[in-house]
Amino acid sequence: MRYVSTRGGATANFAEVLLGGPAPDGGLYLPETWPQFSRSEIESFAGLSYAEVAFRVMRPFIGDAFTDDEFRADVDGAYATFTHPEVVPLTELSSDKYLLELFHGPTLAFKDVAMQLLGRLFARALEKQGRRATVIVATSGDTGSAAIAALKGQPNVDVVVMHPKGRVSDVQRCQMTSVLDANVHNIALEGTFDDTQSIVKELFADQAFASRVSLTAVNSINFARIMAQCVYYFTAALALDPKLKRRAAFVVPTGNFGDVFAGEAAARMGLPMEVLVVATNSNDILARALETGSYNSGSAQATLSPSMDIQVASNFERALFEASERDGLWVSGAMKAFAQTRSLPIRADALAALRERYVSGAADDAETIAAIGEVHRAYHTIIDPHTAVGVAVAGKLPRMPGIPLIFLATAHPAKFPVPVMRATGISPQLPLHLKDLLTREERCTVLPNSTDAIREFVFQRTGAA
Ligand SMILES: *Cc1c(COP(=O)(O)O)cnc(C)c1O
Repeated sequence: MRYVSTRGGATANFAEVLLGGPAPDGGLYLPETWPQFSRSEIESFAGLSYAEVAFRVMRPFIGDAFTDDEFRADVDGAYATFTHPEVVPLTELSSDKYLLELFHGPTLAFKDVAMQLLGRLFARALEKQGRRATVIVATSGDTGSAAIAALKGQPNVDVVVMHPKGRVSDVQRCQMTSVLDANVHNIALEGTFDDTQSIVKELFADQAFASRVSLTAVNSINFARIMAQCVYYFTAALALDPKLKRRAAFVVPTGNFGDVFAGEAAARMGLPMEVLVVATNSNDILARALETGSYNSGSAQATLSPSMDIQVASNFERALFEASERDGLWVSGAMKAFAQTRSLPIRADALAALRERYVSGAADDAETIAAIGEVHRAYHTIIDPHTAVGVAVAGKLPRMPGIPLIFLATAHPAKFPVPVMRATGISPQLPLHLKDLLTREERCTVLPNSTDAIREFVFQRTGAA
């Protein structure tokens, strides 16, 4: 399998896509052609374990980067870390509303689904090439903990995770800082999430530094994450109806457009579905883009669903590439102009194609709280604020009679206890194996908001000084 850049100027194989960052032309990688599964092939996945479906759906993407045995071992290992036997169970709220519970992994958010696999593949690919690497992550909470859980203890990887000091929840902080493996290096930056992101950008731009520590990223633009996420669209559709006759609308709480684009990937691979609902919080750049045809970036504001407080949805570039029938020249020009003007007018044919696949809406904090309360009262189920954004947005869409709604439940409610308490009066409990999380020993270095300070720290910790 070859991969092409959304800006038309580069190709790569799977190992390069896995270990590299963006394509050299600044674009994002996508498979040259989408693997195809016939309806009867997909139906034949019903009843198989999650890991087995994952293996079959993802195998075509891997090419010859790994043998079947190697890939199977990593897929099995990744999903054995989930505490639910079905890995990502579909639970019924009512006869036409379902929750796809994506939060049974080690850090209680959906990012584990991709990251647990990515960490294993990453270490294996490095080992095959006889290399070491330093993974650096700027995080507002969920990505950092998922990366640490996936990469801790790997012999050929150092993972440096920078969070804004005092601006992540206690649960999120402890999930990062209580991991004491020698290859895990936590930084609490005296700054904001935006500051952590600009420092990471500067470090990547410093080529001498980047090559000395072999700097890489596992962020949401890595195609391997999308590949891992498209699997649960298949298993959820089959759990809803093993004959695939009932077609669902998938409601996806969205920040960087990675999770919902994985739904597009599943559809392009042959999975029948009704529509994908792009649900954003008050940071509604995506909802506005689909409504008005103009993708305009503002400044991000803090909400009760912090993992979606994003003003530039990186993976949207992939959807634009597909919607323009893979016109890399147009995407390249449009993205370059966007970098200057923060505004991107979507070409009419691409906008029409996007609107056929996606519907969208935004919900603010008050609507998010109301949705948590309503789901609790109506179905005796507690959802987290990210999942609630999806529920609130779906409630505002024109009725889709007879169409089952599958809400992607992206985080465990105990990860965000404050809004849940406010909405329901109930303090959501951490799962048993994490009950003592907040009292575990922590290790973390507080550093000033300075790229030099971070560079020095990385040199020392990776032994590259
Ligand atoms: C990251 C995250 C999201 C958004 O996912 P994207 O792929 O960035 O759209 C939603 N909910 C939770 C809990 C997350 O951690």
